[in-house]
Amino acid sequence: MPSWQHVTYSREISSEHYGQQVTVGGWVQDLRNLGGISFLQLRDAYGVIQVTMLKKRNKEIFEQVASIPRESVVLVSGIVKESKEAKAGYEILPDSVTVVNAAEAPLPLGVVDKVGADLDTRLNNRFLDLRKEEIRAIFKIKARTLEGIRNYLTSQNFTEVSTPKIVAAGAEGGATLFPIKYFDKNAYLAQSPQLYKQNLMASGLDKIFEIAPAYRAEASDTIRHIAEFTSLDVELAFIKSSDDVMDVAEGIVVSSLKHVREKCKKELEILGIDIEDPAIPFPKVKYDEAIEMLASNGLKIAHGEDLGTEGEKLLGDIMMKDRGIELYFITEFPTSLKRSTFYAKRNDLNPELTGYFDLDYRGQEIVSGGQREHRYDVLSEQMRENNLNLDSFEFYLKAFRYGMPPHGGFGFGVERYVQKMLDLPNIRETVLYPRDRLRLTP
Ligand code: ATP
Repeated sequence: MPSWQHVTYSREISSEHYGQQVTVGGWVQDLRNLGGISFLQLRDAYGVIQVTMLKKRNKEIFEQVASIPRESVVLVSGIVKESKEAKAGYEILPDSVTVVNAAEAPLPLGVVDKVGADLDTRLNNRFLDLRKEEIRAIFKIKARTLEGIRNYLTSQNFTEVSTPKIVAAGAEGGATLFPIKYFDKNAYLAQSPQLYKQNLMASGLDKIFEIAPAYRAEASDTIRHIAEFTSLDVELAFIKSSDDVMDVAEGIVVSSLKHVREKCKKELEILGIDIEDPAIPFPKVKYDEAIEMLASNGLKIAHGEDLGTEGEKLLGDIMMKDRGIELYFITEFPTSLKRSTFYAKRNDLNPELTGYFDLDYRGQEIVSGGQREHRYDVLSEQMRENNLNLDSFEFYLKAFRYGMPPHGGFGFGVERYVQKMLDLPNIRETVLYPRDRLRLTP
């Protein structure tokens, strides 16, 4: 045990401990008194330990334990004894029980209740919600997902960077900017590191990624939008086309799914989720084809319009039903649709099209990206078309005047990815303390 660990965890106790003294710590999940014998179910970070009090063995402890409120934190020192009845195969006969912190009653949220509480009550009491192993499992998987992503990108020689989250200009349209006061200036919370990661492409750090919060003042309440999300942003230089960018996105997904499957067996089992290897390469469905597929399934979307939530979902159903595919790219978005994305490179032969793509996971967009426009003249023209004030983008544009290689990249929503991976009904399930239009605490 490391020097800073002062309790033995349930998962560490084995037959080697039988007959030995241990100290365990955790929350009082349940207490049952059967007269001469009582049982305390003590839950720690990894499981539940049965502590058995025999009145005739230690009357004082027997009586002390009877009055401990549920969910209090206790330390128990005692002897580990093999037990056929206890679920874990052993029980602890206590010689001392210390109530470290008594819980008030009633609890604002039940921890072992069979009846589920609504999401708002759960989020208002997140620390209690997280005492359920199936909720903790989500965050262990999210951490392993990030680890898998980092491992993959690092193995491909990408450098992890950090860019400012307090910025002077937005990249994704004014409507979703959060204005803030910055000394005596106006500033915003970063919607995306777009401008910075492109800036870095002119620096020789030519394969980079960032995993950081992105802020969007999303006005509508949906199950896939939050005001603060974890954005995985990737950018790489000297690409030939958006295909190179899609290859990186595919590599991240394939390898992080594998990583989670290997590292999170227990958590996936708790959640009842099977992760299968996705079919590779991920199919590429052109925007035009997607519109046609939707039309022949009864959903008309005008050319140049976004597929929308309904369109994305139906496309996901069609891909699954017809081809058994969960992950696919939608490519060649029309320029008119991506007009607000002033930095998208348009198709050299047909400027009505961009090389921009989305990656959808079972009917939900999780990644969006493509090749960027790296030619100063063309880029500034596209910015003018989008009514942008070039002066306020000078730091960004400057880099395009002094040697900017062709490049591309994408924004990858980590929470949307985990939501889909674990088939969760709402993106908020994947954020410890979500932020949205209505929620600023806890
Ligand atoms: P949508 O059209 O679904 O609102 P978007 O086109 O605004 O998404 P991008 O700006 O392309 O999204 O961002 C790239 C990725 O970041 C998205 O594919 C998504 O996974 C994630 N993302 C964007 N906005 C949010 C949000 N408000 N909450 C959670 N994830 C988001």
